[in-house]
Amino acid sequence: MCSSVVARQVHGTRVVVAELPSKGGARVIGEADGMVTEAKGLLLVVTAADCVPVFMVDVEGRGIGMLHAGWRGSAGGILEAGLLLLERALGIDPSRLVIYLGPAICRSCYEVGVEVQRAFGRDATRPACLDLRSELARQARGAGVASSRVLRSDWCTRCGPVPLHSHRAQGEQAGRMAAFLGLANAPAG
Ligand SMILES: [Zn+2]
Repeated sequence: MCSSVVARQVHGTRVVVAELPSKGGARVIGEADGMVTEAKGLLLVVTAADCVPVFMVDVEGRGIGMLHAGWRGSAGGILEAGLLLLERALGIDPSRLVIYLGPAICRSCYEVGVEVQRAFGRDATRPACLDLRSELARQARGAGVASSRVLRSDWCTRCGPVPLHSHRAQGEQAGRMAAFLGLANAPAG
């Protein structure tokens, strides 16, 4: 049996520990933009349309995490919050993780204003392009994840190579992609 959990995403930095629901099935939990778990058979689900789905996996399969990282969450430190919770709640050090940054808006499709750039510590005076996945990769390496274990998709939700949901391209009507990650149940017997 497989269960799933999804949180009400608010572009924040809150990450929670997800438990296996007692009755199985799909469950929606409170406001959070990230979840970690060591429960087997539990899919962590995040939805995105330009924001980055961040997959975090312990190399020995002891625990996982999923984050929804747009510019607010990324600038606010959601990646660091996820890494900290994996370490504190599940005892998984960042050096034991593989991180994958999924399909998201690419740098050339993502021009942002001064406010957004300043949130990332830039001394900005005019609009410029932002590469969210590069920012997150830099944060991951800075927090102790090995460079060789920070992987990324090159797919852009706005410009391809395959059609995906993009908030920038389709506005409020845009659909969402679901990204999910789970630890497999132990084989029977
Ligand atoms: Zn693009």
